[in-house]
Amino acid sequence: MFKKIPLHTQIIAGLVLGLIFGLVIVQFGISPDFTVDYIKPIGTIFINALKMIAVPLVLASLIVGVSNLGDISKLSRIGGKTIFAYLITTVIAITLGLLLVNFFEPGEQLPQETRDKLMTQFDAAAGSKASDAAAIRDAGPLQPIIDIVPENLIAAAADNGSMLQVVFFAIIAGIALLQIPKDKAKTFTDFFDALNDVIIKIVEYIMMIAPYGVFALMASLIVDIAGENPESAVELLLALLKYTLVVMGGLFLIIVGVYSLMLKAFTKIPFKDFILALRPAMLLGFSTSSSSATLPVTMKLVEEELGVSEEVSSFVLPLGATINMNGTSLYQAVAAVFIAQALGMDLTLSQQLTIVLTATLAAIGSAGVPGAGLIMLIIVLEAIGVPGAGVALIIAPDRILDMFRTVVNITGDAAVCVTVASTEGEMPARLIRDANPFTANV
Ligand code: ASP
Repeated sequence: MFKKIPLHTQIIAGLVLGLIFGLVIVQFGISPDFTVDYIKPIGTIFINALKMIAVPLVLASLIVGVSNLGDISKLSRIGGKTIFAYLITTVIAITLGLLLVNFFEPGEQLPQETRDKLMTQFDAAAGSKASDAAAIRDAGPLQPIIDIVPENLIAAAADNGSMLQVVFFAIIAGIALLQIPKDKAKTFTDFFDALNDVIIKIVEYIMMIAPYGVFALMASLIVDIAGENPESAVELLLALLKYTLVVMGGLFLIIVGVYSLMLKAFTKIPFKDFILALRPAMLLGFSTSSSSATLPVTMKLVEEELGVSEEVSSFVLPLGATINMNGTSLYQAVAAVFIAQALGMDLTLSQQLTIVLTATLAAIGSAGVPGAGLIMLIIVLEAIGVPGAGVALIIAPDRILDMFRTVVNITGDAAVCVTVASTEGEMPARLIRDANPFTANV
């Protein structure tokens, strides 16, 4: 019935309707039982579905991503530069996110009573105990590093809290794949390649129920939180608005600050021309929320409009679409701290450093598909002892933020691509003087 309406519009509608539904229930004092018994479970199913695919998604996309590097000897100049640039921009994005979220403290607005309530609610949903956080606080300083190495891979995969261990295994497996004979490695990589595609399809299915999931989550959140105290619902909404603005501000700063400086330092391409040339890919990224879907267009534009050789672009861009997600990593840093703030958990400096490490890994492990960053956020949360189900808190504005962060992910890949090409002696230049990117045949 709603097939003709684009998914993002449906989700925004779900969000707004859920909000209105929740507020009406609260405002008119209608019994909240119906919402709790029949609406809230739809949201829980949506979150469960997201968590369900997290482990296979990490395994498949990371193993494929690392093994895409070709063979170890090819990790020479171009590979080294590319990975270095991807890592640096990712860490800069996360650090910027952490600075912004610690400065603006969007989650600090929630009153203690509301936070306690959220905490109990999400703890129950996650099936985790409040003592988990205390246990993490009491552990030794090297415990986070010890925890990265799984004692039992199957057990790690079965336990939602051990996602980082799965990430660790996937990276090691990807590197090992590069070092065994190609014919033997092929069976393995083919399998994970196919698994990756299957997971991406399942993500699409889950995104189809997203409008209903978002409706249910918004409605039940408002009813749960505001049931007894309507003012706190308004405070929660204001906090979410502030969080959304912090993420968007950070994303904007990455593009106009980080990328423009990078282009200025390493290339001769004027920033404005770079953005103009890339505009169709950015718009496509915005409307599909998928860097993978946009990849063919990004490659074409970078080669034809910015003059990068195919040799460089066909290595740098596909790799970037898998592992380089600057928008996603900034968002994960802001979201993790926001959720911790909202739940009243003070993060120590070492927890914030853990965010830098885990958000880097989580962004690398995020597939370039809608909603992937949200799923991988669970890794970051669990690593700092915040209940993974806390993602429920930020799911509502997530679809919109996904659109914006995907634009940054794509722009980041292209910025690194022209930078690597320039340092390789290529002279990428704007070739679009006469062509209008909107009419260009992409
Ligand atoms: N949608 C993003 C992308 O495709 C990934 C994410 O969910 O952050 O780049």
